[in-house]
Amino acid sequence: MRSSLWLITLLLLPASAGLAQEAAPPTHADTLRGSITPERAWWDVTYYDLAVRVNPADSALRGVNAITYRVVTTDSVIQIDLQRPLQVDSFVQQGRRLEYRRDGNAFFVYLAAAQRPGEQQTLSVYYYGHPRVAKHAPWDGGLVWSADSLGNDWVATACQGLGASVWWPNKDTQADEPDSQRIAITIPDSLVDVSNGRLRSVTPNGDGTATYEWFVSQPINNYDVAVNAGRFGHLKEAFYGEGGRLTLNYWPLEYHLATASRQFAQVKTMLACFEHWFGPYPWYADGYQLVETPHLGMEHQSAIAYGNHYLNGYLGHDLSGTGQGLDWDFIIVHESAHEWWGNSLTTADLADMWVHEGFANYSEGLYVECLRGKAAGAEYNIGNRKGIRNTTPITPAYGLNREGSGDMYPKGGNMLHTIRQVIDNDEEWRQILRGLQQEFRHQIVTAKQVENYIDRKSGIDFTTVYQQYLTTTMVPVLEYRIEGPTLSYRWTNVVPNFSLPIRVTLSDTGYSVIRPTESWQTATLSLQNPDGFAVDPNYYVESKRVTGM
Ligand SMILES: [Zn+2]
Repeated sequence: MRSSLWLITLLLLPASAGLAQEAAPPTHADTLRGSITPERAWWDVTYYDLAVRVNPADSALRGVNAITYRVVTTDSVIQIDLQRPLQVDSFVQQGRRLEYRRDGNAFFVYLAAAQRPGEQQTLSVYYYGHPRVAKHAPWDGGLVWSADSLGNDWVATACQGLGASVWWPNKDTQADEPDSQRIAITIPDSLVDVSNGRLRSVTPNGDGTATYEWFVSQPINNYDVAVNAGRFGHLKEAFYGEGGRLTLNYWPLEYHLATASRQFAQVKTMLACFEHWFGPYPWYADGYQLVETPHLGMEHQSAIAYGNHYLNGYLGHDLSGTGQGLDWDFIIVHESAHEWWGNSLTTADLADMWVHEGFANYSEGLYVECLRGKAAGAEYNIGNRKGIRNTTPITPAYGLNREGSGDMYPKGGNMLHTIRQVIDNDEEWRQILRGLQQEFRHQIVTAKQVENYIDRKSGIDFTTVYQQYLTTTMVPVLEYRIEGPTLSYRWTNVVPNFSLPIRVTLSDTGYSVIRPTESWQTATLSLQNPDGFAVDPNYYVESKRVTGM
């Protein structure tokens, strides 16, 4: 999710609070975390074998991650990330304990064995300690040590942005995913652990604990790997979709079973809608799951964290303010949209996070469109503009593990809605969305690749549109004058050579397309009442009538 600090901020704080702050100057640690350092570049993760003992009694973890990687180019120093206050016990390769140097949250390990290109190697990282406790999950994440209303332990992880290395050692960048992963979580045997993928086994250890072994058979983002331990009930269903039979497993708290079975009926409607627009759910092999969490939610791949209290809307609210967001469960819809946008198609750098959140936000409008038609979906998208602040650009600096402004949600969604207006062909637009999913299925991409794909398939160059909405805080203004039957118009508040054809009412019969530039142009108006001149509200632009030159 990252369903965003701005969302909750909007709900809980006055409008003047929480304005964006100047980004702090990048630190050495930001670069180690956010860039592809030389000690990261030479190897490619193929498999994580993670086994962790999770102890709610003293909020401690102890475990090992056996990292298998393919050597791309020869090197002898490898960077592994693990955040303070967690400690490494040892790094082991081929039975040898290795020397290392710690630099903040990054470890540089000196490998003894030869690293030959093309070969696979495994490095085991043994670690322990009391991981960072989440301050305000899921936004300010870490470990959530909570209890349900009956006092049973209820544990969760949430670490997007902050990084998976807050609770397990790995190559902590979005740019590298393992092809598959085992997740073996040992917890008190009164609890159930729900992690990602499929449950392979539950092994009682005879010491009051049990080990839940999960397996993800497809590539997974490290921040999606999750522990969810609690007293869960279990509901099983199936959905028959474009990829065949998809298993649906729901894990509400035991005492919420009945409520969950009603609320989660929305899952099938959501899947049918998103498969229509985006193509097959990306993880048929691993299934679809919802698991109840003590925090609001997160797009944990094939095990979506659900904490919307079985309410429709966003905790019962409609973020669009239009009423179109009130009768469906925001967390089911938004987080599930990330299975396509974020989990299957993942951006390499956090700076391109708008691709995850802009498309997920836009998906909410498509869901409304599935429920109630195109006009309703458009109304929802347009309503979301009230959440746009335009205080800082969506795209921040690259290579520093920075995420852009919260505008990446509603403004990202509205940029896509605007692009759809220009393409002006719903089937073509749908094929572009499905095409993006097909072209970049289970891959790591840059925003630029996504932008280029849209341009190539539509045959329209949207370069200045991306520039305008992603790298500036300016909203394009269509300035116009009406003098008798003559309409004069031009763009202002735009990037140089801004190109966005737009629909306006030149006559009483409906909209016509004009192609404004920064220079004045004219068109002939044939409106009965010139005051009725309007710009199609589907475009995220402003318009301003001026007089004189
Ligand atoms: Zn999200």
